Amino acid sequence: MVINMGKDLNEGEINKSALLDNLPSMVYRCNFDRDWTMQFVSDASFELTGYKAESLIGNRDLCFNDIIAPEYREYLWIRWNNVLSQRESLMYEYEIITATGQRKWVLETGQGVFNENGDVEALEGIIIDITERKVNEKRNEFLGKHDLMTGLYNREYFEVLLEYELDLEPNVKKAILNINLKKTDLFTLAYGFHYSQELIKKIAAELTTLCTNDCRLFSTYANRFTLYLKNYKDKNDLIQLSEEVVKILITILSAKGNNVGIGILEINEGETDVKKILRDVLIASENSVSNLNNQCRYVFFDKDMELKIIRQAKIKDLLEKIATGNDDYLYLQFQPIYNVEQNRICCFEALSRLKSDELGIVSPLEFIPLSEETKLIIPIGKRIIHKSLCFLRKLIENGNNDIRISINVSAIQLFDNDFTSSLIELIDNADIDPSKVIIEITESVFSDNYHEINEKLNKLKDRGICITIDDFGTGYSSFARERELNIDGLKIEKYFIDGLIVLNPERLITNDIISMAHKLGHCVVAEGVEHEEQMQYLVKHKCDMIQGYLISRPLDEEYAIQLLKNNDFSKYAIKEKTDKK
Ligand code: C2E
Ligand code: MG
Ligand code: MG
Repeated sequence: MVINMGKDLNEGEINKSALLDNLPSMVYRCNFDRDWTMQFVSDASFELTGYKAESLIGNRDLCFNDIIAPEYREYLWIRWNNVLSQRESLMYEYEIITATGQRKWVLETGQGVFNENGDVEALEGIIIDITERKVNEKRNEFLGKHDLMTGLYNREYFEVLLEYELDLEPNVKKAILNINLKKTDLFTLAYGFHYSQELIKKIAAELTTLCTNDCRLFSTYANRFTLYLKNYKDKNDLIQLSEEVVKILITILSAKGNNVGIGILEINEGETDVKKILRDVLIASENSVSNLNNQCRYVFFDKDMELKIIRQAKIKDLLEKIATGNDDYLYLQFQPIYNVEQNRICCFEALSRLKSDELGIVSPLEFIPLSEETKLIIPIGKRIIHKSLCFLRKLIENGNNDIRISINVSAIQLFDNDFTSSLIELIDNADIDPSKVIIEITESVFSDNYHEINEKLNKLKDRGICITIDDFGTGYSSFARERELNIDGLKIEKYFIDGLIVLNPERLITNDIISMAHKLGHCVVAEGVEHEEQMQYLVKHKCDMIQGYLISRPLDEEYAIQLLKNNDFSKYAIKEKTDKK
């Protein structure tokens, strides 16, 4: 129903009002005053505001301004004044409070009706209910700013906030702690997604207890939290906070043997590059967890860390290239192993190196762990085996039939399902007797899955391949276990050989290791022999083989071949040519 103040409606106007009454949105004509005194209101007013049209017209029961949520009243007045002065139309979103007290979002569009003098005679427009759209917008806005699992603000929000505050308060001390729980991935694998999610939620709740106005918590990446600190005094405050975080993490995670860490970055005064800040703190947090087992520690970002990460990225790049078939960067050196009884070189250990114009020669101690971390050790390991076998083939073709090759193999290679078949295939392809091939594995391999590994070793042994335990004595194995293992020999770690010249003879156990190993039927190699005295001790205690700089450093292929040609070891000490590269 349309009520028109003081005027009768003609037929055309009646049709128009019937049309307007059927519109789902409220149509109006009102005075340009602070009450928005209504001259005309369509029936949809009731649906929208809960007030009938007649209540509003002429401000009979209330004026429209009373329905507008108070905080928008002044703004709406100013907006109308602005658009009218420009003779433009209005489009404005605001909230109203309905007769039942419910808040609704509305969109008002309207324009002024001017008389011939240019004065505003009335305002006409339409008011639409947009609550549903607004709720969706708010929901999306919340989702855009929050991490759904923990309810904490997310990285996007943190970045915007940080950028804003760096600009606004350049002189306020600021720091970031990045808490890295990456290793909780292992829980997901072991116990399922829900379990690890519950853990993360629990940690989020506990970390929230550390928050203050100047210490805020964000969920920035999967399994990572960020504490953003302002106005702290000095490094000690950051250390103290980190220790509290460590305490929380250890309480929740320690029993589950987790490996977590905290990277800390103090933001330099005047720094404005948010991307750099976030990258640096990530570098520190990566460093806080790398190469650690079941520990929780915090580290401050420093320049060296950045250089290390850049270098590692370059090495990983080379490893990728090698894994996909590029042969320019990987090469092997060969270190002879001397058989005491036979007084000859009986074997070479293949030792891999990386080389590039930019990085020079990279030690396996640096790139093997990276290739393990990236699992590239599997394809790269195959290339190493292939190259080692090619070298042995050359030796055989040179008439050295009684020589063997010893190849280092990492746990990750060994755990790979294809390892045994691929090794056997490579040996067959090179037309080599499997008994001429020795696989060196480190003791740490046996810390897990002892039975699985032993089964794998048995398969290799069945094919005639020999197995040696590398770096024996410093890791997990014991002679009790050694007895059960199907191996041929062990290499005594350099540590026990070094001891031969520094320790009191009564405190030496190297002789006991040799005799125990012999009792178990294992052959013994001493690693890292550098001095005549060590050699004499080892020969006296019946060590079977000697490897070390005293015999020769690792050699490039051509020098290794050369060495065999002069296979005369009447004197133990052979000062050979060293690395050519
Ligand atoms: P490892 O298998 O125990 O090899 C012996 C290491 O000691 C070699 O270091 C060798 O150059 C060094 N060495 C030999 N004699 C002496 C000596 O008299 N004095 C001293 N100070 N050092 C000596 P390198 O070549 O740097 O290799 C380090 C480790 O990297 C190796 O220890 C092995 O665990 C690993 N590695 C090397 N090549 C490979 C590979 O192809 N695959 C895998 N998985 N690991 C490899
Ligand atoms: Mg070795
Ligand atoms: Mg070794």
